[in-house]
Amino acid sequence: MPNITERLNSAIDSIRFFEKKSNRDENSVQLIAVSKTKPVEDITEAITAGQRDFGENYVQEGVEKVTHFNDKSLTWHFIGPLQSNKSRQVAEHFDWVHTIDRLKIAKRLNEQRGVYQQPLQVLIQVNISGEDSKSGVLPTEVMSLAKEIVSFERLTLRGLMTIGVKTDDVDVINQQFSTMNELLTQLKTQYTTVDTLSMGMSSDIEHAINNGSTMVRVGSAIFGARG
Ligand SMILES: *Cc1c(COP(=O)(O)O)cnc(C)c1O
Repeated sequence: MPNITERLNSAIDSIRFFEKKSNRDENSVQLIAVSKTKPVEDITEAITAGQRDFGENYVQEGVEKVTHFNDKSLTWHFIGPLQSNKSRQVAEHFDWVHTIDRLKIAKRLNEQRGVYQQPLQVLIQVNISGEDSKSGVLPTEVMSLAKEIVSFERLTLRGLMTIGVKTDDVDVINQQFSTMNELLTQLKTQYTTVDTLSMGMSSDIEHAINNGSTMVRVGSAIFGARG
């Protein structure tokens, strides 16, 4: 059984491989190591191996880890669904939020982000597959939400995030990811801070990178299956 360091390095190797295969610049895709449900010892091993960006889904668990490490060289990404009553914790402890899906949450995060902190880096989550079970705004709603977000001083709009549909149909995956890429291009023409497409997980990394992803979120392939 390979250890976390070995699995982390092979995740990085596959990112570099697919960057090359898609004619993307080397290092244009960043790895977010998704450490949800995993103990701080596992994160420590990944940090020792050089990883700096971590993704967490659950507010309380995430805040405990951020506080435990208290390390300015680490970047913490909140990638889970966010309820209004927990927004303050996220605003105060995380560096990025990938899951903005409504104005109310953006407004609260803006009010709750400390004035002494760097602005919170945010992504709008897009429900590109249109599945009822998925969070996120519809593609047609991206521009209006973006317009509201950029008026908030304590937030910086960096781009879009999506969770790919679970299917073996590569054409469907590619079509949806390519639509995400077009949406990002459109957003970029309006806002100079936009540069990020958070798209791709263990199973669909290749298609995500081929369609312009700049951040992939990988959990189990690095830390092992979640119990
Ligand atoms: C859990 C999770 C991941 C990582 O999933 P793995 O299957 O463990 O690689 C990525 N993105 C989001 C939003 C997640 O919730």
